[in-house]
Amino acid sequence: MEYREDHLIQATAADATIRLVAAVTTNLAAEACDRHNTAPTASAALGRTLTGTLLLGRTYKDLEYITVRFDCKGLLGGIVAEASAHGTVRGYVRNPAAHLPPNALGKLDVKGIVGSGMMHVIREAGFEIGLMKEPYYGSTPIVSGEIAEDFAHYLAASEQINSAMSLGVFVEAEQERVTAAGGYLIQTLPGVEESTVAAIEKAVSNAAHVTETIRAGAGAEEMLRLALGDIPFDVLETHPVEFRCKCSYERAVRIVTALGQEEVADMLEKDKGAELTCHFCNSVYYLDEAALQNILEPLEPVVM
Ligand SMILES: [Zn+2]
Repeated sequence: MEYREDHLIQATAADATIRLVAAVTTNLAAEACDRHNTAPTASAALGRTLTGTLLLGRTYKDLEYITVRFDCKGLLGGIVAEASAHGTVRGYVRNPAAHLPPNALGKLDVKGIVGSGMMHVIREAGFEIGLMKEPYYGSTPIVSGEIAEDFAHYLAASEQINSAMSLGVFVEAEQERVTAAGGYLIQTLPGVEESTVAAIEKAVSNAAHVTETIRAGAGAEEMLRLALGDIPFDVLETHPVEFRCKCSYERAVRIVTALGQEEVADMLEKDKGAELTCHFCNSVYYLDEAALQNILEPLEPVVM
């Protein structure tokens, strides 16, 4: 099935006292769920977390990478998502088979498989004048398990930013495939008028669910328009977003090399090779006998 390209927009409203980020993430959520072969409820949890991480990451000016980790006691066991400043995201859940019957509202019971635990956020700002900046760590308890509320609680409790987040993943029942995903984040900044906050709260509470609007063909801007009702906003930037992992065969070789000569010699003797599976994207890398031999006795560079 083909979809329009995933995208994310940044926007502003009420004289820059409101920060808005919205994204359609159908393809990247579907790809992540395909790669990890997730059951429907786990798909919703993973898709929401990937989207929430992309949205949150966009609100920091000097961000290089952001990692969001849910360490949870429910059946799912945990969720990890990592997004870059360039619009790429990757992630996984600990138990892809986690699934429960629908909740009382007839929705996928994400809260049920997440359960209680902690949400951790790690922000890496990258390099500045050749110096690695210290990463920022924040942790808050999981207050809901429905993911979006947990992001909003994290922002309020850890960064003192009031926000509303809505995330949605629609899993088509027959093929258990993600056919719509996306969400938005609304942050109120210092100096915001009380009346603006009240108007936004009212508009958002009356808005249709994000997956309904995406399934009806809405892009990120249209989604924000429907969420905000008659509150005007200006779109500042639009970016493509995608699922992309950082792993590669070369990285797999570096990981095996780092195990040390003794370990590599042992692998060569016992298994005649080494197999590595990337947690984030489920890609499998196989190092054959010759590759392991080359780690033990690198070929001399030819001197001309
Ligand atoms: Zn990977």
